[in-house]
Amino acid sequence: NDVKAKNYIEEVYKGVLERNGHQYEFQQAVKEIVESLTPVFAKDPKYMEAGILERLVEPERLISFRVPWVDDQGKVRVNRGYRVQFNSAIGPYKGGLRFHPSVNESIIKFLGFEQIFKNSLTGQPIGGGKGGSDFDPKGKSDGEVMRFTQSFMTELSKYIGPDTDVPAGDIGVGGREIGYMFGQYKKIRGGFEAGVLTGKGVLYGGSLARPEATGYGTVYFVHEMLQSKGLSYEGSTVVVSGSGNVAIYAMQKAKQFGAKVVACSDSNGYIYDPTGIKVETVQQLKEVERRRISDYVQFHPEATYHEGCSNIWTIPCDIALPCATQNEIDLDAAKTLISNGVKAIGEGANMPSTLDAIDLFLDAGVLFGPAKAANAGGVAVSALEMAQNSSRQSWSFEEVDAKLHDIMRNIYQNSMLAAEEYGHPNNLVVGANIAGFKKVADAMLAQGLI
Ligand code: GLU
Repeated sequence: NDVKAKNYIEEVYKGVLERNGHQYEFQQAVKEIVESLTPVFAKDPKYMEAGILERLVEPERLISFRVPWVDDQGKVRVNRGYRVQFNSAIGPYKGGLRFHPSVNESIIKFLGFEQIFKNSLTGQPIGGGKGGSDFDPKGKSDGEVMRFTQSFMTELSKYIGPDTDVPAGDIGVGGREIGYMFGQYKKIRGGFEAGVLTGKGVLYGGSLARPEATGYGTVYFVHEMLQSKGLSYEGSTVVVSGSGNVAIYAMQKAKQFGAKVVACSDSNGYIYDPTGIKVETVQQLKEVERRRISDYVQFHPEATYHEGCSNIWTIPCDIALPCATQNEIDLDAAKTLISNGVKAIGEGANMPSTLDAIDLFLDAGVLFGPAKAANAGGVAVSALEMAQNSSRQSWSFEEVDAKLHDIMRNIYQNSMLAAEEYGHPNNLVVGANIAGFKKVADAMLAQGLI
């Protein structure tokens, strides 16, 4: 059965390569998943017989559309918008929207594919989706961002709804953008469908603790990993890449757990503050004033700024939390981290480590919390936001945070159990993939050939 399962997976993966030429990020995401599923297909041939894998790797629907808008100079600009509705076996499509110049079909499909398993792991009833645009919000005025997002939503509104597809934020899409998009959707539909988007402001149906959820969740997840080895954050040195929503709240929570966070970054470079990063300054600079991280040193002269964001991994640390973007930790960065004595990695971003970097961490015995598990807190609280919207309730911060903490603990335990059951004890990459896969696969089996 092992050989049969291996051949089956190889054949499906070959098909993915043939049908998705040049979509390297998508191919990488598929490879990471399928390689860990061999023991599942070997044990339960029913998944092979039902063609679950060849169905899973093909999105149910991929929408791509023109987004015309007018800039402040009165010039017409055109971007491309996407939404991939990847899998709806266990709930409405759910996943963020990313506005970044690197966005293309491959990026959106890799993110959408990962989202299927991540969302399943949360234990919440949400399917997998993702979307975005190659629009670059950097340097754009508020008016330009509003006109772009309204145009984006005018088209996207045809495909989404509280019971069909529920977008949220991701890189380049935060509270401001969600607000503009919600306003436009409401205007088009002529009704207040609160559950159509998550990450909303608390004034109009958002959930408390949603902004904090991804970063907090990553830190909670790593806390579980550390505890299993008798370790803790207390007195540890932490490096966090990024300075967006995920990074800011990861730093805040790590500090609350007694860690010292010494560095964070943006796409230009990183800051090193040996006295500990002042998270309020980062938040003020990045979220309120929309400035660069280099300005931090104006307020804290004890810190230094260094050009080139990838060099952040040369800073010795006990715990590394990559919270910026895909493939930010490559093999070289992994080698440096390991030789500097890193004990744990928690992936706050989506697919921040390359496949060879992951293998190296696992071989070196570094505790490794893969993105699908470690950053699932954001989308988990999005599902809690949907639940509050459907029942017209709003829960307290403490209530949502406690639920988030429970969810992260469950994800950790379920991933550990699956890893153990399928012969890869302590390997959370394999465990998370298998645990996430099985729920979706069983739901697909139950619903027939769809
Ligand atoms: N963009 C986040 C993620 O990658 C959140 C998605 C959501 O809340 O729907 O999971």
